[in-house]
Amino acid sequence: MTFVKRVGIGTDVHRLVSGRPLVLAHVPIEFDRGLAGHSDGDVVLHAVIDALLGAAGLPDIGERFPDTDSKFEDADSGELLADALVVVRSTGFVPINVDVIVHAEQPKLSPYKPAMRAELARLLGLDIDSVSIKAKTGEGLGAIGGGDAIACTAIVGLGSAERP
Ligand code: MG
Repeated sequence: MTFVKRVGIGTDVHRLVSGRPLVLAHVPIEFDRGLAGHSDGDVVLHAVIDALLGAAGLPDIGERFPDTDSKFEDADSGELLADALVVVRSTGFVPINVDVIVHAEQPKLSPYKPAMRAELARLLGLDIDSVSIKAKTGEGLGAIGGGDAIACTAIVGLGSAERP
């Protein structure tokens, strides 16, 4: 049994714009707009990356993958997550669980939640039971409620990589 030894939190927000595909937790979502961003704009993976890095006491996503670096232009955030996992594991910690809240007025995410959960589990090397995805609307309030942006809050637990 591995116990949680560290927790980390991450948040992110991206503007919804025309002419971009919408990708959340590495899963393509059918919608008439997508998230603006230097990379693919996957707000879920960005929040998870920051939670992972924060739990391990490492510099945040903006320092590791600067948006001034053309290398990360239209980057697949799954690859950024894989890179973050390597550095987290090098500190002697591994992910134990992740809990995610997607803040989106539209589109309805319930049909996509099983695929998002499975993909997050695969990317993090976790059992599906250790991954939670929740979706909340903004109740019509602010940028989220007005459908101008999608945000994400994520929390990650890390345990020791070595067996007890
Ligand atoms: Mg971001």
